[in-house]
Amino acid sequence: MRIKKLHDLYFKQLLGQEEITSIVKSLAKQVKKDLPQDEVPLFVGILNGCFMFAADFIREYKGDCEISFVKLASYEGESSTGDVKRLIGINEDLTGRTVIILEDIIDTGTTLHEIYEIFRSTSIKELKIVSLFFKPDVYRKELHINYIGKSIEDKFIVGYGLDYDGLGRNLPAIYQLTTTQPKMKNIVLFGPPGAGKGTQAELLKEKYQLVHISTGDVFRFNIKNETELGVLAKKFIDAGDLVPDEVTINMLKAEVNKNEDANGFIFDGFPRTESQAKALDEFLAEKNERINGMVALEVPEDLLVARILERGKTSGRSDDTDESKIRNRFNEYNTKTAVLKDFYEAQGNFYGVDGVGSIDEITQRLSEVFDKL
Ligand code: AMP
Repeated sequence: MRIKKLHDLYFKQLLGQEEITSIVKSLAKQVKKDLPQDEVPLFVGILNGCFMFAADFIREYKGDCEISFVKLASYEGESSTGDVKRLIGINEDLTGRTVIILEDIIDTGTTLHEIYEIFRSTSIKELKIVSLFFKPDVYRKELHINYIGKSIEDKFIVGYGLDYDGLGRNLPAIYQLTTTQPKMKNIVLFGPPGAGKGTQAELLKEKYQLVHISTGDVFRFNIKNETELGVLAKKFIDAGDLVPDEVTINMLKAEVNKNEDANGFIFDGFPRTESQAKALDEFLAEKNERINGMVALEVPEDLLVARILERGKTSGRSDDTDESKIRNRFNEYNTKTAVLKDFYEAQGNFYGVDGVGSIDEITQRLSEVFDKL
């Protein structure tokens, strides 16, 4: 997976495991080559970020060596706080030793400078610095860094030991914060079958100049035109079952991609399962977009069955006329779809709206939420 969500932010993969491995190997090789044949260096990893790099680095270092770790406060949140604390953890006698600092990343250089000064005041033989990543655009110090794995632009990265507020250290690859501001307003219009999503979406798309995607409508269009997708989906729809996720997700992506210039989308009938919701989040994140909110029309089930049977008189939908199929659609909704309320609630993105009343009244209620999103 090339996109990761940590807390509230999305990150895109910058470097894969293989690329990292080859950088680490070449660093270890260079360091070894530049040392006298019998030198036993003491590598000092700067915790926490360097633990993965240090472990891989010394595995690649072909020669005798020692390793120790020191700890400093580094980051809180997204940017360097600048207040470096004291160094803890060195118990070795450093007299006459070659000390090689292992850093995961050097940006402003403030942390590194402080560590360097502490080591310099001891009577060591030589002090060198190895950093896996380096941000040349923000480096503010004169201090020479002996070995740099890779210079990167000034964007926040996570993974391979580096974190964002505690998360992301265990990722084996490196991910970069996606920084482009979202441009679209994307709304999931949610509710059980017959709640009035289709009717309201038609009105709201005009009002807010959004593209309305109803997965049910797209399926019905395909069934009518006897496309491959239509033939595949028909048996599920006729029974009131959900169409398999993979088919539905691919179809939805294609519909979104047809409308690259849209101001945003009203998703009607999608997502209907948790894996669809996750796929939608990831798909939008790849475009630096997101779901602004899930707006749910809340209507009691008894009222819904009556509404659907009434609609069935004119809709031409076989799944609207047979009460057992309608009940099955509710069953699918209650077992697979209703949980999405929790999914969006956990993101702070759930908005419930009373779906009982006249069409105008409900449009009004929905608009109040749309305006806020
Ligand atoms: P609707 O018009 O939204 O009530 O959808 C009609 C039927 O299309 C549903 O009962 C499902 O069989 C199928 N369908 C629509 N959207 C989805 C979806 N997101 N996932 C799976 N099946 C869907």
